[in-house]
Amino acid sequence: MLKRLQSTSKSLFAKFTKPAKSVDSSDVQIIERKQHSISRNDISENALKVLYRLKKAGFEAHLVGGGVRDILLGEHPKDFDVTTNAKPEEVHKLFRNSRLIGRRFKLVHVVFGRDVIEVATFRAGHDNTKNNQHAKQSESGMLLRDNVYGSIDEDAMRRDFTVNALYYDIKDFSVRSYAGGIDDLNNKVMRLIGEPEARYREDPVRMLRAVRFAAKLGFKIDKPAADPIKELAPLLLDIPAARMFEEVLKLFMAGKAKATFELMEQHNLFAQLFPHTQQCINENSSYRKMVEQALINSDLRISQGKSLTPAFIFSVFLWPNLLETKKKNESMGMHPADAMQQAQSDVVSHQQKHTSIPKRFMIPMREIWGMQYRLEQRKPRQLENIVGHGRFRAAYDFLLLREQVGEQLGEAGDFWTQFQEENPHLVQQHKRNEYKRPARNGGKRNGPRRNGDDDRRPPRKSKPRL
Ligand code: ATP
Ligand code: MG
Repeated sequence: MLKRLQSTSKSLFAKFTKPAKSVDSSDVQIIERKQHSISRNDISENALKVLYRLKKAGFEAHLVGGGVRDILLGEHPKDFDVTTNAKPEEVHKLFRNSRLIGRRFKLVHVVFGRDVIEVATFRAGHDNTKNNQHAKQSESGMLLRDNVYGSIDEDAMRRDFTVNALYYDIKDFSVRSYAGGIDDLNNKVMRLIGEPEARYREDPVRMLRAVRFAAKLGFKIDKPAADPIKELAPLLLDIPAARMFEEVLKLFMAGKAKATFELMEQHNLFAQLFPHTQQCINENSSYRKMVEQALINSDLRISQGKSLTPAFIFSVFLWPNLLETKKKNESMGMHPADAMQQAQSDVVSHQQKHTSIPKRFMIPMREIWGMQYRLEQRKPRQLENIVGHGRFRAAYDFLLLREQVGEQLGEAGDFWTQFQEENPHLVQQHKRNEYKRPARNGGKRNGPRRNGDDDRRPPRKSKPRL
């Protein structure tokens, strides 16, 4: 495969194999325990268990990625990732509570109830590989399979940003920083390891990761990493819709949705995920206002520890196109109710080409939309039923948002606020049905945070593309 690539796309291959100018594996800095701020108290009990068991079995074991980066920044990591020289099968054997996941990117998940510690084996640059059994790329340079194992130095070169290539060694508690990662952390810069265009082609999701981390950490994306994004953004269309959905959760459910959205627009990324929304907000400023206000409100909710469901975010993002499509349907003579139903189906099926929308969010999203008309109507005989509906709270918030951005709905929002105040017993009833955001860290400090998923399944981690 690599050979074939070489002949069909020489320039691309040349870029891909070209050693990274700014980074090489000898470019490592070891920061002794007394020179950095990471204490084992900052690391979750489960992550420590994994690290120690690997060490005891004679393997190298490091904490890597956000776990190291965020602690150094004084933040609480979202999750802990471990990397080791043990092969996935060896890791799996060491932990009864583990499962091997992925075929193209083999990993082990060590599961502690709802907490998952992801263990990855050091990966090497696949351009060294003699056969294509373990590594595979598409014509466009995208990594399809990446199971070539190597040393920690090689592993560092496969990671995306320098600040994500910091390794905390459980053996002596030192931190290894590659390619100036620690300086970039101090200077608040997201710098890609390797040649940016090739790294984005290998995995276009890295473009989303660049803006996500920049927004989350308040970092700047360094120019060579930022410049190619606008042009390469359409490569995201090749990413499976299910992976894109997982990314959408990380982008918009982590408390920095507004800043992330701004960066995404600036870099032509939002249009790849939500093309119809982008078009509508470009053409109509009130749609833009609604999307922006929803993101501001969502960030506020997260900062106040309140619940937030992906169904709400999706219902807002798709609302402009829903209204436009409904209008079109009506202009073709459809009855308003049918026009709405048809528009819902069309808008959802268009969106699913870009991001999947799992049923458990799609149904509530359609309920939020479906309840708007009833909330506006306020038919006396329906009031109790409406307020007792499991989706009332989200639908009411949606109604308030519409009013907040200037829609004239005959003060329906005030009506429902008052109705709830006057009927607390009914509100109690809906509270029981309400979506609940799971405890942030499963009740524990440094535990996992789940992406606003509203069922009780263990958290899903999307596989890293190293
Ligand atoms: P957070 O968990 O806060 O979102 P993170 O940096 O830990 O941030 P993860 O998705 O958990 O991100 O991945 C763990 C590490 O794996 C990253 O820090 C990075 O080193 C590596 N990684 C993940 N995804 C990619 C990718 N697409 N390309 C290269 N490296 C990646
Ligand atoms: Mg992580």
